[in-house]
Amino acid sequence: MTEMKIKISSVAVIIMAAGSSSRMEGQKKEFLVLPNNQGTVLSSCATAFLESLAIKYLLVTVPAAGGEKVITQAKEALFASAQVKTLLEQPNSYGKKPELVFVPGGKTRQESVLFALEKIFELGSVDAVLIHDGARPFVTKAIIKSVFDEVINHGTACCGVAPVDTQKEIDSFGNITKHLQRNKMVAVQTPQGFLFKPLLEAHRKAAEQKIECTDDTEIWSSFYDSPVKVVKGSPENIKITFPGDLTKMNQNQIQIRTGLGYDLHRLVEGRSLIIGGVNIPSPKGEAGHSDGDVLCHAITDALLGGAGLGDIGEMFPPSDSKWKDADSKELLKQAWEKVKKAGWELNNLDCVIKLEKPKVLPYRKEIILSLATILGVEPERVFIKAKTGEGQDSVGQGNSVEVWATCLLVK
Ligand code: MG
Repeated sequence: MTEMKIKISSVAVIIMAAGSSSRMEGQKKEFLVLPNNQGTVLSSCATAFLESLAIKYLLVTVPAAGGEKVITQAKEALFASAQVKTLLEQPNSYGKKPELVFVPGGKTRQESVLFALEKIFELGSVDAVLIHDGARPFVTKAIIKSVFDEVINHGTACCGVAPVDTQKEIDSFGNITKHLQRNKMVAVQTPQGFLFKPLLEAHRKAAEQKIECTDDTEIWSSFYDSPVKVVKGSPENIKITFPGDLTKMNQNQIQIRTGLGYDLHRLVEGRSLIIGGVNIPSPKGEAGHSDGDVLCHAITDALLGGAGLGDIGEMFPPSDSKWKDADSKELLKQAWEKVKKAGWELNNLDCVIKLEKPKVLPYRKEIILSLATILGVEPERVFIKAKTGEGQDSVGQGNSVEVWATCLLVK
């Protein structure tokens, strides 16, 4: 079959937000605020569409029972992002601003779509319409564009993902009646796109004939032979349904960084051996500009590096006499304050101390407690291990002490 491109010069987008969010413990999911200044669920949907297409009408369905109050709430949720306001005020390729319309919904999703389609018809019709669940805030411009492109090619398209779990058909008793082939299955998402007039016709007929469908592709297929083309959606294009989805959403936003620090100090007579703020009796101690606490130095570098905030030499230059014989616990504390200020929390810190003698392990508990106190974290988040140089290198010869520290930062 030769593909014929359909000329589409005007598009409407319907964002469905007329549901009662009955599984969301009373919270209207489309109005929820997203983490990390991403606006609200509704404003995130609207931004994606307004940035992807030249839209003639942007319709948002709202619960009819909510009256003016819910329209005010929907407006607030929509304009929670300044970007939406800007995009609605910019003339698009029609030379006109997109027209924003709130439509009171019906008793079912299907009825709400029909009301929105009738509203578009009343406003003056369009060539194509894209319908999107208002609770899918992570739809991307790429998905919207590929659905729209296939509407141009086929007249209708939706997006979907391959189901992760094997799918079965069951009867009313819960018994498997059919083992479905997973490679022939797709879990359908939104947006779904259609030529406007045929979809309106199908919806009108479905309403007349009391045909109930779960989505608009089913309505389309109830009246037309031309198949609905499925393009690649995304597992991130989730529909917020349960309060737990919000937690998942927040988890998506967690940032994780690792940091690595290393230090070596010469061991000389007449200096104290200080490791992690703990004074360990020894005939030799660390040489250095500060008190020479090799462990505190390596940890300071790990934390600063993980957060991308420089390193110990930059923050406390040895050229500055201010840091002469400085207490390295204080340096570590100051660096950690800087990292915390940037929003980071310490998930865990793990260190290796390489020292020939004295043995470090008898001091392990004390060092861990000392570090946990400096950083203000639970001791369970800190660990240290002790190694020797087996008499080999400069550590092995008792001339130096080396430390490696890694940390995991989260925010
Ligand atoms: Mg050092």
